Amino acid sequence: MTAIDMKICIKCTGCIDICPESALFLGEDAAIKCDYEKCISCGDCVDYCPVNAISIND
Ligand code: SF4
Ligand code: SF4
Repeated sequence: MTAIDMKICIKCTGCIDICPESALFLGEDAAIKCDYEKCISCGDCVDYCPVNAISIND
């Protein structure tokens, strides 16, 4: 599962743009969210994030 640490995230929204499955989105609370039904755990967002705010856990 993709976990976004919002204490680290700078809300650049780049991960939303690069996700090949459009699984990431900005929630109503302005936090980055992941739709686990769409996420294929490809790791692209983890590689992209400039502040290493995203991790993938089992
Ligand atoms: S790429 Fe990283 S810093 Fe940018 S919005 Fe996504 S989680 Fe936040
Ligand atoms: S792991 Fe891949 S599919 Fe899942 S949210 Fe990140 S970029 Fe999207």
